[in-house]
Amino acid sequence: MATSFSPRGVLVASSLALGMWLTGCATPEATSPTAPQDETAAAESAADTPSETEAKGQKKVLTTFTVLADMAQNVAGDKLDVQSITRIGAEIHGYEPTPSDIVKAQDADLLLYNGMNLERWFEQFLGSVEDVPSVLLTEGIEPIPIAAGPYTDKPNPHAWMSPRNALVYVENIRKAFVELDPDNADYYNANAAAYSEKLRAIDTQLSADLAQVPDDQRYLVSCEGAFSYLAQDYGMKEIYMWPINAEQQFTPKQVQTVIEQVETNDVPTIFCESTVSDEGQKQVAETTGARFGGNLYVDSLSTEEGPVPTFLDLLEYDARVIANGLLAGSNAQ
Ligand SMILES: [Zn+2]
Repeated sequence: MATSFSPRGVLVASSLALGMWLTGCATPEATSPTAPQDETAAAESAADTPSETEAKGQKKVLTTFTVLADMAQNVAGDKLDVQSITRIGAEIHGYEPTPSDIVKAQDADLLLYNGMNLERWFEQFLGSVEDVPSVLLTEGIEPIPIAAGPYTDKPNPHAWMSPRNALVYVENIRKAFVELDPDNADYYNANAAAYSEKLRAIDTQLSADLAQVPDDQRYLVSCEGAFSYLAQDYGMKEIYMWPINAEQQFTPKQVQTVIEQVETNDVPTIFCESTVSDEGQKQVAETTGARFGGNLYVDSLSTEEGPVPTFLDLLEYDARVIANGLLAGSNAQ
């Protein structure tokens, strides 16, 4: 039994174990040089050596953002050239595609997108590209509706933040690749199976990490309401400043609403995300006395030097920051 340990100690130990597990299971495809871990380098290499992938006979897969590119890369291994349209750290919801994005898409053999109201620019973008197949990666996932704001009742797009849903993404990627390149079907099937196994292990670990947080403190306070799927999977309640990244962010009314909810529920620690300003959330912390627990990653991976160069890192990092943050905050009260 874990009762002889402090919850915090248990959590740190389990997170360390996961870190070791991740290191121990790292596969060559996860650190493939073609992975879009540095978007600038990826874009440069694409611009400088357009014939390289053609020389290798690889087909080109273009995804809308870095998280999907990393998932796809893990299934593609070294058989396909996978890239992301939006760069690391980019705001992906209201992205404005450039003419060179359209050229790149026209040159691709397959486009992968999230859908569910995520890429508000994608439909128009697709209209500018002729005869390139596109695959919706959230096909088969039950959407959670957005509860408030201008997008009320539309699907919350952040379905990848649940490792259980990520398994559906991987299956959709696998099917798309088998159809695109049937000669390597066995290879994609094996990669998808291995990657899905890692996602299942992350799911188990996240459950264990977040279970350390006492029930009455399981409030996930973020800037964007991007954690609905994660909260649903692991029994957390969500409080956020705005439901989805849009024009109207971080208004005095939004800040005041979060202040009231944090005070009412005595939430010890609050968070924001890497792709938006955390200024409003820091105001909430100052007013309520809650700790600001740092920035979580949702809409973009980090560079190779950052904490979450892969999607598996992203899930594990967020769970650790959330659970450690809530436990440290509640211990301090
Ligand atoms: Zn988002």
